[in-house]
Amino acid sequence: EKFKQGLAKTRSSFAERVNDLIARYRKVDEEFFEELEEILIAADVGVTTVMELIDELKMEVKRRNIQDTKEMQEVISEKLVEIYRGDDNEPTVLNMQENGLTVILFVGVNGVGKTTTIGKLAHKLKSEGKSVLLAAGDTFRAGAIEQLEVWGERVGVEVIKQSAGSDPAAVMYDAIQAAKARNVDVLLCDTAGRLQNKVNLMKELEKVKRVIEREIPGAPHEVLLVLDATTGQNAMSQAKTFKEATNVTGIVLTKLDGTAKGGIVLAIRNELNIPVKFVGLGEKVDDLQEFDPEQYVYGLFA
Ligand code: GDP
Repeated sequence: EKFKQGLAKTRSSFAERVNDLIARYRKVDEEFFEELEEILIAADVGVTTVMELIDELKMEVKRRNIQDTKEMQEVISEKLVEIYRGDDNEPTVLNMQENGLTVILFVGVNGVGKTTTIGKLAHKLKSEGKSVLLAAGDTFRAGAIEQLEVWGERVGVEVIKQSAGSDPAAVMYDAIQAAKARNVDVLLCDTAGRLQNKVNLMKELEKVKRVIEREIPGAPHEVLLVLDATTGQNAMSQAKTFKEATNVTGIVLTKLDGTAKGGIVLAIRNELNIPVKFVGLGEKVDDLQEFDPEQYVYGLFA
């Protein structure tokens, strides 16, 4: 239900257009595919992925000798899920430690919804019975620490912080010691997101990561890149930059409720080979959903 509501814009622009196309064409022909291609591109699926998808669909149509467009909704859904999954079928669930502390590092540029996502995920983990601590690692942006504290209070989770302008690696060190001392299950770490000075930001991220690695072998267990779905291809280029700089293990795609271009999920997964682990479907505390490609695609057409 949450998916259905949150994806209303993508449903009406993408799924309804596909359904309308199927209703207008009876036979699966070249013109049908051309229109389908336009719809996919408008949904931000990305040109490379669209071409691949159209080729696969044509082969499938041939293989199964499909003539009637009525069968196409199912075939399109199947192929969307298949392309999303890729060859390696990476898990979309979080890599949580069975015993001991799980450290999750959040990266991404300012304004994408990083703080909000940390708050939402803290709430989700807490409601699953886990103890959670937040690390205020964005010591650069004015108000970032306070904003994380607001979320901490809202969801009843403590925030480890230092003063603005302090060394984020030192904040991480403190946070890890606190998490160990209190036997916390999950530590969620915020980081700075200024992209004006890319080299410095990436150096800072490296340093933060090194401290975490040194204190806890095997950590961070996830590096989640937060991207704003409403920025479309811009989100794609941010993903490329962060992927080059650090070992991103998953993506949180926020503000999917605010865009009709939900196809970006597929483009990111297919072109960058990073699984989308969560999607943000609103500003409220329970508006974060685990991403399941099947649920997503079939939810669009439901
Ligand atoms: P940060 O700078 O990356 O930490 O971004 P924030 O967490 O401050 O979020 C920026 C804005 O985006 C805020 O107004 C949030 O309420 C809003 N936001 C975050 N996630 C979502 C989402 O999934 N849907 C919608 N509609 N708004 C969101």
